[in-house]
Amino acid sequence: MKRVKRDHLSLLCDIGELADLLAGSENIHTFLQRAVEMVARHLDADVCSIYLFERNTQDLVLAATVGLNPRAVGKIRMKLGEGLVGTTLFSRKPLSVDKASADAHYKYFKEADEDRFESFLAVPIQRGEEKIGVLVVQHEQECFFQASDTDALRASASQLAGSIENARLLMELHTGNGKVNPEPADVRELKLVRGLVASGGYAHAPVAVYKKTHGELLSDQGQNDGGTIYTMDDFQEAVKLTAIQLKEMENAFVERLPESASLIFTAHFMILKDPSFISKMTNLIENGMNPPEAVRRIANSYIKIFSSSPHAYMKEKANDVEDLGSRLLSNLICRSCGEPSLGQKRVVISKELFPSDILKLAADEVAAIVLVGGGVTSHISILARSLGIPLVIAEDERLLALPGGTTAIVDGDMGNIYIDPAAEVVNSHEERLKTRKTADAIKNEMLPETRTKDGTRVHLYANINLLSEVPLALELKAEGIGLYRTEFPFLVRANFPTEEEQLVVYNRLMEQMGDKVVTIRTLDAGGDKILAYSDVKGEDNPALGLRSIRFSFKIKEVFAQQIRAILRAGAGHEKLRIMFPMISSLDEFYQARNMVMSCMEKLKAEGLVHHEKPEVGMMVELPAVMETLDEFAEAADFFSIGTNDFVQYMLAVDRGNKRVADYFCPYHPSVLRALAKIAGAGERAGIDVSVCGEMAHEPEYIPFLLGIGIRSLSVNAKDLPQVQKRITSLTLDEIRDHTRSLLEMTTIEGARRILDEFKKGVVPD
Ligand code: PEP
Ligand code: MG
Repeated sequence: MKRVKRDHLSLLCDIGELADLLAGSENIHTFLQRAVEMVARHLDADVCSIYLFERNTQDLVLAATVGLNPRAVGKIRMKLGEGLVGTTLFSRKPLSVDKASADAHYKYFKEADEDRFESFLAVPIQRGEEKIGVLVVQHEQECFFQASDTDALRASASQLAGSIENARLLMELHTGNGKVNPEPADVRELKLVRGLVASGGYAHAPVAVYKKTHGELLSDQGQNDGGTIYTMDDFQEAVKLTAIQLKEMENAFVERLPESASLIFTAHFMILKDPSFISKMTNLIENGMNPPEAVRRIANSYIKIFSSSPHAYMKEKANDVEDLGSRLLSNLICRSCGEPSLGQKRVVISKELFPSDILKLAADEVAAIVLVGGGVTSHISILARSLGIPLVIAEDERLLALPGGTTAIVDGDMGNIYIDPAAEVVNSHEERLKTRKTADAIKNEMLPETRTKDGTRVHLYANINLLSEVPLALELKAEGIGLYRTEFPFLVRANFPTEEEQLVVYNRLMEQMGDKVVTIRTLDAGGDKILAYSDVKGEDNPALGLRSIRFSFKIKEVFAQQIRAILRAGAGHEKLRIMFPMISSLDEFYQARNMVMSCMEKLKAEGLVHHEKPEVGMMVELPAVMETLDEFAEAADFFSIGTNDFVQYMLAVDRGNKRVADYFCPYHPSVLRALAKIAGAGERAGIDVSVCGEMAHEPEYIPFLLGIGIRSLSVNAKDLPQVQKRITSLTLDEIRDHTRSLLEMTTIEGARRILDEFKKGVVPD
C-alpha cells in the first residue's frame, strides 16, 4: 500500500497557530471547522470530525466535520461507550481500527453517510480529568493510519483542548443546558482595620472606592446611558474597540505574567466570537432596543446561566462575561472618555475584582488594593503578589463608604489598613520604607560566590513560584533555580494549562535563566494547594490524600503534558533538572522517571526539539524513604530535601495548622539525625543534595545543614542576602563541633539548648 510521509511537525505548528487565530475567526463554528480541515489535510484523511461531550445529556454530539454529511452536524449523537467514537471517550484512549465495518463497536449512523470509510482513528479530547470530546479521522482505504498519526492526532487534541473546551461551554449554553438561579456606617470612626494578608508590601496613598458588585455594572444603576439613544453603528464600533482593547491587554499581560495571560483572555475572545452573544444583541437592537440595554440584557442572561453552575470553572466564566459586558458597555456609552484611570497611585478599595481588573489597575500603577468582604480567590492574591501590588482582604464594609481622597496606609505584610493615619504611623511606615531601601543596597553587596569564612564553597539557589520573582533572584546572584514550584501556573488558572500554555511559561523561565541551573518540580497539587477545577476535593485528610506525584500518576495525560512542556522548553539549555515531589518508594521514582523517558521518545518520534539528558531527581519529603536511602541515591541524579513536608510527615504535624505549630519542630532529634542520613547517602553515591524547605534560610539551622555535608541551599529570592551573610560568618571547624553536639542530643530540649548556645557563641566542649 502506498504510504505518504506526513509532516506532523507542521501540523502541530499549524494547530498552535490555529489556537492563536481563534481571535481572528468569525465564530466558534468556523474555528472548529478550520481545525478539522487542517487536521484532515495534514493526515490525508477523507474525514475529520470533532464530537463534543455534552455534560447535561452525557451525549457526544458531532460538532464539526469535513468529509461527513455537513447536515449531520448537531444531529449525530451517541452515548459514552456507544460506537467507536463513544468507546474512545469512555476508555480515554486513542482507538485505531483498520476495518471499521468489521469492528464489534462499529455503529452506522445513516445521517453521516460514513459506511465507506474503513480506516478509523480517534483520540479523546480531555482537559485534565474533564471529558471534552473526540477528534476523529477516517479514510476509505483499510489500514491507512500509522502509529505516528495517532501521536500527531493526540498532540493536536491536546493543543486544541483549551479552546475547544471554551467553545463547548458556549455551545452548551445555547442548548439551554443551564438552570437560572438568580443569585454604611460611621466612617469617621474608622482608624485601623485589620485584615488578612494576601500580597505583601506597603502603600501610603489616597483611596478610591471601586464600587463593583456582581452584575452591578451591567444593571441600570451601573453605567448610566443618560437617556441617550445609540445606533447600531455605535454598537459595532464598541465591539471592535473591545476586541482591540482585549488584544492590547493580552499583549501587555503576556509580558508581565505569562503564567496566566491566556487564562484571562481566551475566554473573553471566545465569548466575543460566540455568534449568539453578539447576534442576540444585534437582533434586539434591530428590533428597536437601545444598544446599552441590549448589551445588559444578553450579558446578564449569560451571567445567570454560568453563575448557576455547580462547577467552579463555569462560575469563573460568569466573571468573564461580566467583565466583557462591562467593557462593551463602557466602550458604547463612554467612547470618548477613554479607559477610566481609577487606580493611579491610589489605594483601591473594592468588594470584588476580576483578574482583568487587577491587570488594569496594575497598568494604572495602583498603590495597593483592599478587597472587602471575602470573595477572594487564590489566584487574585497570586496575581497581586506577582505583580507586586500589596493586597489586604478586610471584612469591614465601612471601608466601601470612605470618601474618595481620604489617605490610607496599607501594610500588606501585617494586613493592616490605617485610615487617615496619624503622623507617628506615617513616620514609622516611612522608617520601614527606608529599611527596605537598605535592602536594595544589599543587592550590591551580594558576592557572586558564597563561601564559608574559611573558604568552603556553598551553592545558593532560588525557590521560584511565579516568573515575576526571577529578576530579583538574578539580581541577588542566585546561581540558578533550586525549586520551581510549577503548581502556580496551574493554580492561577481556571483549568489545566495545556502543554503549549506551559511551554510558554517554561520557555520564558529558561530564557531568563540563561545557562544557569533550572530545577523544575513537577506538579505538587493537592494538600494545601487544591486546584479549583480538579475533582480532588473534600478529602478527609488532604495531606495524606491524592496529592503531588500521586495526583500526576492519576491524571497521566496532564503529567505527560507537563513533562513534555518542560523537556521542550529545556531544549538547548545545559542544566535542566526535573524533580518529583512526595516520592515514597523506588517504584514511584522509577514510574515517574519512565514517564520522562517515554515523553522523550515520543518527542523524538514527533521531531520536536527537546532536552535529551535532563538530570532526574527527587524531593526527599517522606520518612518512608529513610530505609532505602542508598538505593534512592543510586537511582536519582540528585536529592532535594523538602523540610517543610519532611518535618510534617516525620512528626505527624500539619504544617499549616496553627494549633499544633509548637509541634512543628525542625530540631527534633529524629529530624536532625534523618537529615544527616539523607546527606550521607547522597555523599556516598556522589550526588548533589540540596535543601529547599524553609529550614534552608533559617540562620539557626544553616550551620547544622553545612555540618552534615549539605553544600546547596535553595531559598526564596529575598532571603538570599541573609543566607549568604550567615554562611560567610561561619568556619567549618565550629560548624562540625556544633553539628556533632546536635546529633548527640536525644531530646528536643537538649537540641534547643545547643542551638541557643551556638547563637550566643558558646563553644561546645
Ligand atoms: C517542602 O516541602 O519543604 C518544599 C520545599 O515543598 P513545598 O513547600 O512546596 O511543599
Ligand atoms: Mg513539599
